[in-house]
Amino acid sequence: MDQVRTILQSHPHWPAVEAIYHRLAGEGYKAFLAGGCVRDALLGFKANDLDIATDATPETIENLFEKTINVGKVFGVMRVLVGGADIEVATFRNDGNYQDGRRPDHVVFSTPEEDAERRDFTVNALFYDLENHRILDFVNGQVDLKKQILRTVGDPRKRFQEDHLRLLRGARFAAQLDFAVEPNTLAAMTEMASAVKTVSGERLRDEMGKLLKSKNVSLGLRVMQDTGLQSELFPWRAPDVSWTAYPGCEIWQNLSLFLRTAQKFDLEKSIELLRLSTKEKRGIEDAWELWQNPEEFFTQRLGLQIQLLQKPGKQWALEVLMKEGRLEEQILSLFIQRRDLGEELPKPILNGEDLKGKLQGPAIGQCLQEAYFLQLEGTLKERKQALSWLEGYLK
Ligand code: ATP
Ligand code: MG
Repeated sequence: MDQVRTILQSHPHWPAVEAIYHRLAGEGYKAFLAGGCVRDALLGFKANDLDIATDATPETIENLFEKTINVGKVFGVMRVLVGGADIEVATFRNDGNYQDGRRPDHVVFSTPEEDAERRDFTVNALFYDLENHRILDFVNGQVDLKKQILRTVGDPRKRFQEDHLRLLRGARFAAQLDFAVEPNTLAAMTEMASAVKTVSGERLRDEMGKLLKSKNVSLGLRVMQDTGLQSELFPWRAPDVSWTAYPGCEIWQNLSLFLRTAQKFDLEKSIELLRLSTKEKRGIEDAWELWQNPEEFFTQRLGLQIQLLQKPGKQWALEVLMKEGRLEEQILSLFIQRRDLGEELPKPILNGEDLKGKLQGPAIGQCLQEAYFLQLEGTLKERKQALSWLEGYLK
């Protein structure tokens, strides 16, 4: 238990949590750490966020603390800003009826027991009492944590019916924690897999993003494939669980790897399904195109290759190929030439002014483009030389 306490207390947000705890306790309210942070501390690692659960209502929280943000007051979720930290403080609640497989139509503020019971998986339903530094476990979550099992709180069919996102969260947490999905939970996921299609694109994107940067991505992919979640969401994708991790990369980069084997039509459909931003879409498409025919990329003139490297998707696609040991020499030599040009590409040596009265229409752009390629390739180095090149070009 001391180890759990040490881990929690080493979190940069701990002082803020303590401050919130003292304020709440001073008024006679309970304050527990809840969910992911308790799970992670018991597993021996530091969580991203420390979330607090309390019996104080959102109104009370608003009154007790100077700076609060109303995240979802009717659902009992507030954020409290203390000393530079931003802590979620949620009221113990019991989610009423779920009508649309998405969110409860109302919530009732209630007890810690009921708050544990509305959570998705047992290992996510643990509390850490800030008063006496003890774990509160109403759902046998600690046993599952020890056995490394992911199990829904209560009847899995009912729980997945309430909120279809939990189906994909099941695969995500299996991957993230490297836990086996408990057989009855897995069976329910399989039976209900088709319901995952009702989940909003943004939520799918977030869960897929987390799954693909997990500790055991292959396990997550296996769960998605065995349950049918993958064929519901990405029917074009072959049942393949192989995965190479590129630590520290962004969601779109991982998604580009996941979508790499799609046909163009399916790629576009998947991008749409996940509601990706323009920037993410562009990155994925640029990488995908390059991967279709990497040799072809290098048949383009050097100046163009260098310019294309400005696109994050192209740069990323080449980095991946290099790690895979494909076209290593060509990629390395391109990266070196690019690096030698400095952090930012140089400003064009010639500009529209230089062509005034000399060329018209599209010819202007073509000429400037040619000059710029020669500049990037190292043929044109200074202005005088560029101007004399221009004379020759115009003839
Ligand atoms: P991490 O932040 O490491 O991804 P987490 O467990 O903190 O994992 P969150 O999505 O941040 O996951 O949710 C916090 C907690 O809220 C969960 O641990 C779980 O108890 C509860 N929770 C979140 N989403 C759901 C859901 N869709 N259904 C039921 N409970 C949920
Ligand atoms: Mg969290």
